[in-house]
Amino acid sequence: MAIKSPVCGENVKVVKFGGSSLADAAHFKQVRDIILADPTRRFVVPSAPGKRFPGDSKVTDMLYDCYTIAASGGNFDEAFSRITARYVDIIDGLGLTLDLSDEFESIKSAIRNHAGRDFAASRGEYLNGIVLAAYLGFDFIDAASVICFADNGTFDARCTNTLLSAELAQHKCAVIPGFYGSMPNGTLKTFSRGGSDITGSIVARASEAALYENWTDVSGFLMADPRIIPSPLGIKTITYRELRELSYMGATVLHEDSIFPVRFAGIPINIRNTNEPEAPGTMILPTSDEFDTEHIITGIAGKKGFCVVNIEKDMMNSEVGFGRKVLEVLEHEGVCFEHLPSGIDTMSIVLNETELEGHKDRIVSGICRTVDPDSVSIESGLALLAVVGRGMVKTPGTAARVFSAIANAGINIKMIDQGSSELSIIVAVAENELEKALRAIYEEFVRA
Ligand code: ASP
Repeated sequence: MAIKSPVCGENVKVVKFGGSSLADAAHFKQVRDIILADPTRRFVVPSAPGKRFPGDSKVTDMLYDCYTIAASGGNFDEAFSRITARYVDIIDGLGLTLDLSDEFESIKSAIRNHAGRDFAASRGEYLNGIVLAAYLGFDFIDAASVICFADNGTFDARCTNTLLSAELAQHKCAVIPGFYGSMPNGTLKTFSRGGSDITGSIVARASEAALYENWTDVSGFLMADPRIIPSPLGIKTITYRELRELSYMGATVLHEDSIFPVRFAGIPINIRNTNEPEAPGTMILPTSDEFDTEHIITGIAGKKGFCVVNIEKDMMNSEVGFGRKVLEVLEHEGVCFEHLPSGIDTMSIVLNETELEGHKDRIVSGICRTVDPDSVSIESGLALLAVVGRGMVKTPGTAARVFSAIANAGINIKMIDQGSSELSIIVAVAENELEKALRAIYEEFVRA
């Protein structure tokens, strides 16, 4: 009979806890209860302590402050003492006999000696990992030894996976701090903000986990932004691709880049709420044929700050190379576009307004020069709205319902784009009508 390695799929769940879940000793206790309730929760990825109350500071921000003060030659003793106090509070509150004074001293002197911004920021997770490992009785694995970045600062998946899976196989249970790793020369490097989500995903992949649980302070994703739609329904299941569509439009619970490692390995992610551990949260699956037949759509989201370049030319459709020439103008300017809906004699290029800044005139003149259009105009102040749902593919009439809901609300649609996957319908409206349009669609599909 084949003997499975200690790191093997169905016996492993990777659990990541965000900063708000580890902000103080009381939260550490909740976290321990959650972890110990399931023996397959073997690998734990913590963030640095987050805000304990509105107006409080995140330890990561406090570390960035220390770095900034030190970089300008200032004295950061006081700022640093506020950080050590956070950890001492947690340690005392948990009744641990853990003394981190040597760690504090060496971090302080490294920051003083210009160890780097990323080094400073990474210490929040590093110290929290040590405390959490001691509290759980788990091994501690320093992310610097197993999470690799290449010389150019990009994440090195291959090197990481080799080192990390070999290391995890040596441990029954371990804590691996999130957010950072190291470059080939040993310099520490962090992911972008919120990057512990990415570490969790990487650990899930390397341990071939059955599930990646991401514990935060909300019970998963909501069908819409609660600031626009009061008490929207939660999303029970969503696929990676649907999530990508919604995150692109600004629905943020999970770091965008954390999808790739687990998606590659087909591992589901479960978003859970540390303060409401019984709630099932949202399950993010590689694929799913099932959908909520009652509502059809999975979620809606919108984002402001777009503009559209409208190009018109008679017989455009029969002009070979027209699209390429137009896109070359953008490429030449180093500008990327978001959507490209086109008709027989028209082509529209939807861009992020900030992308266009400083390039507008050259883009218009470049298009005029290369394709000699009948007209080119730029319309600003647009919002994009995405209606996302795997159920739309199988349900005729969904697009019609989206458009009539918007029309019945008296809103003019400026552009429509349906991706080839039929997973989403993207609509552009005037920025000041975005909220109204989102409400109209939500009413149509959820409250109708
Ligand atoms: N502590 C880091 C941040 O505040 C990383 C994380 O929490 O995921 O961005």
